Amino acid sequence: MQTVNTEQELIVTTVRNFVDKEVIPVASAMEHRNEYPHALVEQMKEMGLFGLSVPEEYGGVGVDTTTLARIFEEVARGWLGLSGIIGSHAVMADVVARFGTGDQKKRFLPGIASGEKRGGICLTEAAAGTDLQNIGTTATRDGAVYRVNGSKLWITNARYGNTFLLLAKTDAAAEPRHRGMSAFVFEKGAAGMTVSRDIDKLGYKGVETCELHFDNFPVPVENLIGGVEGQGFKQVMTGLEAERLNVAARGLGIARAAFEEAIKYAQQRMTFGKPIAEYQTIQNKLADMATNIEASRLLIYSAAEKRDRGERCDLEAGMAKLFATETAASVSFEAMRIMGANGYSKDFPVERYYRDAPLVVIGGGTNELQRLIIARNLLKKYASKL
Ligand SMILES: Cc1cc2nc3c(=O)[nH]c(=O)nc-3n(C[C@H](O)[C@H](O)[C@H](O)COP(=O)(O)OP(=O)(O)OC[C@H]3O[C@@H](n4cnc5c(N)ncnc54)[C@H](O)[C@@H]3O)c2cc1C
Repeated sequence: MQTVNTEQELIVTTVRNFVDKEVIPVASAMEHRNEYPHALVEQMKEMGLFGLSVPEEYGGVGVDTTTLARIFEEVARGWLGLSGIIGSHAVMADVVARFGTGDQKKRFLPGIASGEKRGGICLTEAAAGTDLQNIGTTATRDGAVYRVNGSKLWITNARYGNTFLLLAKTDAAAEPRHRGMSAFVFEKGAAGMTVSRDIDKLGYKGVETCELHFDNFPVPVENLIGGVEGQGFKQVMTGLEAERLNVAARGLGIARAAFEEAIKYAQQRMTFGKPIAEYQTIQNKLADMATNIEASRLLIYSAAEKRDRGERCDLEAGMAKLFATETAASVSFEAMRIMGANGYSKDFPVERYYRDAPLVVIGGGTNELQRLIIARNLLKKYASKL
């Protein structure tokens, strides 16, 4: 494992303490009420958690990817919804920091780092999720602005956020389709953009996920990421590589929380005169859960280290995302089984982990897509020469 520097270690410890003291005591009740955690967001701003992916020269913390993953693990261990508030925001920050013009970095990154400008990513549409190149939203040049028309669906942070990354078509006729796609950073304010609906979800509550409509919404020309049309798909895909790792780490957080609840419970719950932890059936479950959690962690760190060396890590990030999030789903269900009826009760947090886990399986690129990415990379790596 990569050694993290003292400053970054301190951030992880600070976040861990924050989660233990401030988040865990209130998370289940707020999640059940689907209540937005305004006060916790203010604390996250003070801790610099909106600037994790922003370089120090622009006021951010600029942590390495391993540290980023450890922070996401800690926050998601407390409450997945809270990690969602900084999750897609971090992807937006990453894309602006990597591909923005000097002027865009100066105008946006300090506010993104402080959380004054915060939001997420507007990619998905009703007919374009996995097949992102099928988006229908257009951005048409009109003097000093682009006019955006279309709808976006499943946009996290859309109601309380104010600044977003948008993927739109600047050339709807381009072939291949991705050549006609451009990315923009935009702020709310001008007429023509409405948040029309908050989607009612199984889990991932507290944080809002919404439908957006754009009707001739003006985005200044100088907000086209990198200043050149047709680069958006590539820019967004690079950001999604980072997102895969933060979603993997969120899965790890859920799995760890569920496991810790289950192993505590197993030592206290008595049946037939002894703690259930003494039965081999339960021990086998605990052993498998912990082994999968440890394997998830190592896959995430291995991919994160590769990314920090400046190398592409599609294969490794795909494997980490696939394994860690499937582990979140299986461990939260096993924890529920170990806790019997109490696992099914809202008096314990395991039902919440169980409802939250599917989001990490679907979000950040579905796990079916991860398998395709993994296989594609393997076939490239092991291409047989005829
Ligand atoms: C709670 C939540 C929050 C979200 N937040 C955001 C956000 O902030 N911003 C944003 O832009 N999006 C967001 N999303 C959307 C998310 O990224 C998409 O849901 C995801 O990419 C899948 O797209 P889809 O739902 O359209 O499924 P589809 O693409 O329709 O897929 C349906 C099924 O078919 C499978 N499938 C599709 N194509 C293939 C293929 N070629 N081979 C094999 N299987 C395939 C998929 O894996 C899936 O199982 C969010 C989603 C959720 C649930």
